[in-house]
Amino acid sequence: MCKKGWPFEWVNHCYLCIKNGEAVNHLLIHCELVWSIWCFFLKEWSVVWVTPPDLITLIRSWPTRAISPRRQLVLKVLPAAVLWCLWDERNKKAFDNVSRNEKAIIDSVKLTIAYWLHNRGVFYGISLEQLAISWKEVLFEPP
Ligand SMILES: [Zn+2]
Repeated sequence: MCKKGWPFEWVNHCYLCIKNGEAVNHLLIHCELVWSIWCFFLKEWSVVWVTPPDLITLIRSWPTRAISPRRQLVLKVLPAAVLWCLWDERNKKAFDNVSRNEKAIIDSVKLTIAYWLHNRGVFYGISLEQLAISWKEVLFEPP
C-alpha cells in the first residue's frame, strides 16, 4: 500500500482503534476494543484470566470445560467465533469503511456461534434465532 502512495502511518495502524500498529496480537487480543470484547465473554462465563501475551497462548489456555454440554460446546468454539468476527470487523473497516460498536460485534459473535451450532444435538428444539437472541437464557438458564 505504501507503494501505491498511501502514507505509512495509514498503512500500519490498527483499523479498530486507529492507534497502534496492526500486529496480530494487537488486532486480535490487546487492542482496547478487542480486549473489552474478550472480557465481555470471560465475565459472562465467569472465567478469571490474565491477558495472554500472544494468540498461541490464548488458544492453548482457553478453558474448554463447562458444567453442561451446551455450554461446553459453545465455550469450545467461542475463541474461533471471536477471532472470526474481529477479522471480519477489521476488513469491513479497512475495505468498506464500515464500523460497528462493541455491542454489535458481541452480537455478531453470538450470531456466528448460533449459526455454527444451532443444529447440533445439544440444541435440539432451539432455533438459530432463539440461540442468538436468547443466548443467556438458552445457555445459562436451561429449563
Ligand atoms: Zn487497536
